[in-house]
Amino acid sequence: MRNFIDFISSIYNEIRSYFVPERVSYEITGECKKCGKCCNYMYSVDTYTEKEFKIMQFLFPTYRRFYIKGKDEEGNFIFACKLVTKDGLCPVYKKRPRMCRNYPAKRIFYPGKLHEGCGYKVNIKTFEDYLK
Ligand code: SF4
Ligand code: SF4
Repeated sequence: MRNFIDFISSIYNEIRSYFVPERVSYEITGECKKCGKCCNYMYSVDTYTEKEFKIMQFLFPTYRRFYIKGKDEEGNFIFACKLVTKDGLCPVYKKRPRMCRNYPAKRIFYPGKLHEGCGYKVNIKTFEDYLK
């Protein structure tokens, strides 16, 4: 019964996440340097337990290529892809999932950080920039 409640609650939160109001947005510019860091170290905004991760893998089989690599100092899961090569390249590049194709998003709605040395950057506007 508990599993069923977790399952329904995950679906409910997934649907709710599509209705978060958008306020400030940040543009991302640059180009990929093919370092592979984003395939070896990634976060999920809505997966907090191993059970939730298993449910996500059940709902979206393409996520089965990912595994929990560890936790950061704040206790958030760090995920990695089983497929990325030692050189940081994608062996299924032409058939990589949409989330990999779309990374990094051209525009995000929180002041996110990219990996150190990543060829992209988040352009953070100040309050004065918005006034202009
Ligand atoms: S971390 Fe940035 S530069 Fe490195 S592979 Fe990912 S997108 Fe490309
Ligand atoms: S499928 Fe390819 S691009 Fe996506 S995380 Fe794995 S190695 Fe990286």
